[in-house]
Amino acid sequence: MLSTLMGNIKGMVYCCLFDENWTMVFVSDGCQALTGYDPEELLFNRCIAYEAMTLMEDRVRVRKSIEDALRTCKHFDVEYRITHAGGGIRWVHESGGPLFNEKGELEALEGFIQDITLRKQSEQLAYEAEERYRSIFENAIEGIYQTKPSGQYLNINPALARIYGYDSTSDLIQCINDIQNQLYVHPGKRTEYIALMKTHGQVHNFEAQVYRKNGDIIWITENAHEVRDASGELIFYEGTVEDISERKNYEREIEYQATHDSLTGLPNRTMLADRLQQCMCFADRYDTKLAAAFVDLDQFKLINDSMGHHVGDELLVRMAGRLSKCIREYDTVVRLGGDEFVLLLTSLKKIEDIAQSMQRILAAVANPCVIGGRDFIVSCSIGISIYPDDGADPNTLLKNADSAMYKAKQSGRNNFQFYTRELNQVLTERIDIEYRLRRAIENEEFLLCYQPKMDLVTGEVCGAEALIRWKPPGETLIPPMTFIPVAEETGQIQEIGFWVLINACRKARQLKKLIGRPIPVAVNVSPRQFRQLDLVKTVESALKSTELDPECLELEITENCLVQDTRHFIKTLHDLKALGVKLSIDDFGTGYSSMAYLKDFPVDRLKIDKVFVSNLETEPANIAILKAIVGLGHSLGLKIVAEGVETAYQQAFLDGIGCDELQGYYFSKPLQEEAFVKFLIKGAKASASD
Ligand code: C2E
Ligand code: CA
Ligand code: CA
Repeated sequence: MLSTLMGNIKGMVYCCLFDENWTMVFVSDGCQALTGYDPEELLFNRCIAYEAMTLMEDRVRVRKSIEDALRTCKHFDVEYRITHAGGGIRWVHESGGPLFNEKGELEALEGFIQDITLRKQSEQLAYEAEERYRSIFENAIEGIYQTKPSGQYLNINPALARIYGYDSTSDLIQCINDIQNQLYVHPGKRTEYIALMKTHGQVHNFEAQVYRKNGDIIWITENAHEVRDASGELIFYEGTVEDISERKNYEREIEYQATHDSLTGLPNRTMLADRLQQCMCFADRYDTKLAAAFVDLDQFKLINDSMGHHVGDELLVRMAGRLSKCIREYDTVVRLGGDEFVLLLTSLKKIEDIAQSMQRILAAVANPCVIGGRDFIVSCSIGISIYPDDGADPNTLLKNADSAMYKAKQSGRNNFQFYTRELNQVLTERIDIEYRLRRAIENEEFLLCYQPKMDLVTGEVCGAEALIRWKPPGETLIPPMTFIPVAEETGQIQEIGFWVLINACRKARQLKKLIGRPIPVAVNVSPRQFRQLDLVKTVESALKSTELDPECLELEITENCLVQDTRHFIKTLHDLKALGVKLSIDDFGTGYSSMAYLKDFPVDRLKIDKVFVSNLETEPANIAILKAIVGLGHSLGLKIVAEGVETAYQQAFLDGIGCDELQGYYFSKPLQEEAFVKFLIKGAKASASD
């Protein structure tokens, strides 16, 4: 039974001598399977000794293990390799012990040797696999960690130590024993992390700011999950960490650029929407008021165009600085673009407080500003709307502040205006006109009326003033005072003015043919048209294309054209004069600079403004002014025209003081083409029958 058992057992039972060959005196049948040799071949070293079968490299170690065990009379267990008869190498496990004789002397060894090659192989595979994972862990670029829920590190890789700026993994593990308070910049982050773990079992792209060892703050993102034991008990968190500071800084930079003006560094339009919303919520919650102030620099465009953009830019930067200094720290200054700024003033209890702030701002802006050694003085116009009174949403509030700013411009600049409902009404109409004017220009909805001018000496019509009318289809005539100022502001005056010029020239040429003598036509040139760079060219081309004798065209220019730049004004007058056209100063006496400059103006006529004429009967003081104007004009060789003549008395008086020409309802209202031609022919007949 025993021998059957030994035969069936996987492995070799043996008995050997304690000599240099491990001479086998007994081996079981398992020898064949284990070594590939027949038992007979191994016994007594007949063919091969067991020592020789043992792999060279393992022999000393095996012998030592066995000797050690024998010395203390113990059993031994040893693993080593043998060379199989087939040439292959096998791992074996030998377990054995000493065999003593009756005298207690060591007689032999007996034991059991088993083939463990398969186990060794799988152990090797497992080892290699672990090595591979270890290598990933050790060499990963991402930080990898296991932490206790209570906030200590169990295990980390070198990358994590590197990211957090520690000398080694052990340095980090020792230094940090409270992740919540030592690592996170905001301790609440750890609470958030744990809460996410509780609900989802993991965190995904969890971004946070953490301290490095040296105190620097970096941005990281974590991906982690819970690890539980077999009973479901949480044992640790395991996850990865990536340093995303670079990306975060880049994002911040991008966001900054998107929300700030690159020139002045102030928040921009995008930011305004945001801030405004916040300020409105704040005002609601604390029942305070919020003011939005639209600030527009008055002379900026002029300086920017004439002095160059570097000066313009510098000026904007300075003004941005001044505005920022005028407000409190929780208020906001935004640059909307160009020379427009918006201030948001929060926590106002009384509206009166605003007036003071605005005075401060007007004064700050108006302070001279030295750029490149030159003094620049700019002012600003401010429009204010109040939340919630003047608008419940950002758009309305800003729109109304803008309207109020427009009113400040209208009221002479360098002042501030509050938004009012009436203002809104006026502006709505204005916008409506602007909009409809665009179509009017395309469709040529304009017509010209002509008002005769009478020569006091001959009593004949000596010319006419072309006055524009607007006739939208199906509507009545719209007088110029309703739409010319709008067109002036929007720039539409340029196109309209050109239309007037061409048509007036055309008419003047027709009239000469029709009547047989020249009837010069006077055209009004608005200040903006006058500043237009190519005005002279435009006039020249109108004359050319209509083949009109330049003498038959007169341009009426108001003194307001002069306000900005006297030198340019005089030069343009000379250039126009050189074309051969006549020039007259319109509305004379109402401007500012008349007398001082008059001698430098190459003009032909002064048109005395209607105000001096219309109240002649009631205002004796005007008599003196009128006489003075006539005297002055004549001494400079100019003809004097009086306009707005409505009565026989006025006519007689103006005649008496020496006016040269008269214009007014007394003779005729402005007439449409046909009526005007009739008037001319009748006048011609009347004088012919004299
Ligand atoms: P303005 O150049 O002073 O034109 C004279 C205005 O006085 C005209 O008004 C005319 O109808 C009016 N008027 C003439 N005689 C009398 C009178 O006896 N009594 C009174 N009370 N008024 C009289 P209108 O046609 O309404 O033009 C108003 C202003 O519109 C003009 O003032 C001129 O500044 C501007 N305007 C008219 N046509 C044009 C144009 O084609 N281009 C430009 N840029 N402005 C124009
Ligand atoms: Ca005029
Ligand atoms: Ca006039």
